[in-house]
Amino acid sequence: MDSKIKIALAGNPNAGKTTLFNQLTGSRQHVGNYPGVTVEKKEGDYLLNGQKLHIVDLPGTYSLTAYSVEEVVTRDFLVTEKPDVVINIADASNLERNLYLTCQFMELGIPMVIALNMVDVARDRGIAVETEKLATLLGVKVLPIIARNGQGTEELMRAAVELANEKRPWQSVNISYGDDLDSALLKMEEKIRETGFMSDLYPARWLAIKYLEADEQVRSKGRQVAVASGDSTPAEALEAMVAQVDDHLQLTMETYPEAMIADHRYGYIKSILRQGVISRQYDEDRLFTSDRIDRIVTDRFLGPLIMLAVLMGLYHFTFTYSELPVSWLGSFFDLVSSGVDRVLTDGPLKSLLVSGIIDGVGGVLGFVPIIMFMFFGIAILEDSGYLARVAFMMDRIFRIFGLHGSSVMAYIISGGIAGGCAVPGVMATRTLRSPKERMATLLTAPFMNCGAKLPVLALLIGTFFAANQAQFMLLLTLLAWIVALVVAKFLRLTVLRGEATPFVMELPPYRFPTLKGLLIHTWEKTWQYIKKAGTVILAISILIWTMMTYPGLPASEQELFAKQRQVVEAGYPAHIVKALAEDGGDRRDPLLQKLRRSLLEINKAESEKTLRYSIAGRIGTALETVSWLPGFDWRTNIALVGGFAAKEVVISSLGTAYSMGEVDAEDNGSLAQALAADPAWNPVVALSLIVFIMFYAPCFVTVICIVRESGSWKWGVFSVLFNTSFAFLFSTLIYQIGSVIMAL
Ligand code: GDP
Ligand code: MG
Repeated sequence: MDSKIKIALAGNPNAGKTTLFNQLTGSRQHVGNYPGVTVEKKEGDYLLNGQKLHIVDLPGTYSLTAYSVEEVVTRDFLVTEKPDVVINIADASNLERNLYLTCQFMELGIPMVIALNMVDVARDRGIAVETEKLATLLGVKVLPIIARNGQGTEELMRAAVELANEKRPWQSVNISYGDDLDSALLKMEEKIRETGFMSDLYPARWLAIKYLEADEQVRSKGRQVAVASGDSTPAEALEAMVAQVDDHLQLTMETYPEAMIADHRYGYIKSILRQGVISRQYDEDRLFTSDRIDRIVTDRFLGPLIMLAVLMGLYHFTFTYSELPVSWLGSFFDLVSSGVDRVLTDGPLKSLLVSGIIDGVGGVLGFVPIIMFMFFGIAILEDSGYLARVAFMMDRIFRIFGLHGSSVMAYIISGGIAGGCAVPGVMATRTLRSPKERMATLLTAPFMNCGAKLPVLALLIGTFFAANQAQFMLLLTLLAWIVALVVAKFLRLTVLRGEATPFVMELPPYRFPTLKGLLIHTWEKTWQYIKKAGTVILAISILIWTMMTYPGLPASEQELFAKQRQVVEAGYPAHIVKALAEDGGDRRDPLLQKLRRSLLEINKAESEKTLRYSIAGRIGTALETVSWLPGFDWRTNIALVGGFAAKEVVISSLGTAYSMGEVDAEDNGSLAQALAADPAWNPVVALSLIVFIMFYAPCFVTVICIVRESGSWKWGVFSVLFNTSFAFLFSTLIYQIGSVIMAL
């Protein structure tokens, strides 16, 4: 029974052919293979008003050239089996690409209806396709469907049957390929019609196009036909004509017919789509606005200025609004530590709790408000799409330094704006394809001001440069980038010499961040910081406290201090000595206060001696042989050694060191106050230390990460040695020159 209507389903891979096929045929299907190839052939029946339709699911293709088996199978099926109608399934959410195949069906001339599939997906993306308009422009029926739930399929089949029943002959649509090709095609068509060459197989124009496209399958078939018929003139004539056009195009346009044809097909599709076929319902306005904003925001001159202003605003916002909560938290921890001080008796446990844990971890936690405000501001920049613009603008600068646009993101993640982490930053370099650019990026990303350096910088800025905190922070951010770029350039000129690779980046449209999104992002990052303080930092704080406490002063030395105390006490009336020792005595009694101060002097000297005598103290003291150059004393050295474990530890160790020096809980102010009061500290020392902390060895975890990502432990060692030497030189320069200037 051959009156059965034959319908072929054709389209791009993943356009939904199989889904539609299953929807139509249900269990009435049969799976086999196309002759001679391993491509699956699915056939089945569909009933429409009692009429049986034979349906074939063709393999998915993007084109009808002869590049793949699927393409050859599809077009062979169409030209040899001649189905009554082709249902071209096009993905509505991806129309431009899908229409490329449509175009070729139209050139083949086979009766066709378009099933515009996945309109649900398109709708979700805010894309609406004007089916009527598309149908008019193409001259082909277009029916929207959702293959997945069968919506619109019956109308589709009705339209297909209607077209099949018209039984109209194939009609090729002529697409213009430009003067050169068009005139060649006309001549070739004429030749084909004259000789009837392969006209039982292919429409004349289509055959001519295939010859122009240098389609090997069609050409060899042409040669076979020539041999079989004993007349090789048509085939030879066609090939000669193609060769001539080929040369001509090469000469005039430096291109070849195949590329020319593809260009014009896309041009044809674009010209159709441009006539209001696709409307991006909520997107169009947004895209338009985005473009207008970008014209200013990424402007060559205005862009960087705006960027600096935005950063300045971010730091200003952070430091202004976090001031109050930071001081509250500070008072809270003071309260806790004086509470513990009162409850517990003197001894190692109390010292561990007060000096090791509360002053160490508390010092780190005290910066949570700053971190939170900073993260909140960054979340706004990120969620709104501004951060992508920063990367886009920086790309121009990055090329100069031998890096890549994708390096920018790695920097930003590492803390390029403030408060990131080098670990994910180093991992983010995986998006870089060139190994040299990647290495240069991952070695320099740790120079950024990560979330762990931030509290240290904030402490030092807040103590020594309080008047201009935001400006100072901006300055340090710029410094980090400049150093990273200069070092990257240095590496790219020496150990990592090599070519640059191109950068393509699509700018996502701007969007208004939602408060919920911002809060979630802020909290996620803040919580990570808090968790780290409660675990890693806690453990290291305890370790460092231990190293700062033991082995303790030898008994002979302790006796010396005890004797000093006795000597002092001997100079006072017995009842005053007794009162002070028992309950602190009368605070208004000047004599008692005098005694108290003298005793404190001695206690302080003793605890300092104890600290110096400890393991950590000896390390710190030993390091003084070099650290005097950048102006660091032994206490700072301890903190810096600890900082290799995690940069926050610089604060917690300084906190512990200074709190152990202060024996009297009532005198126990914040670390900032202690530093400000210490004559060994001044702005030059602070600046030298800031620079050292910014650029010396990456923290331990980052080094591990560098080793893993670079595949060699040598790069890990390199980053520790290179960065530390660099930081040492830089800080020494600052301290030495700064001291000279200060002395003037
Ligand atoms: P084929 O490669 O053309 O055979 O495509 P498939 O039929 O395998 O479909 C590809 C994917 O698109 C599958 O995951 C389908 O579930 C999905 N899909 C097909 N049609 C629709 C549709 O109309 N709407 C949605 N949302 N998904 C669809
Ligand atoms: Mg399929």
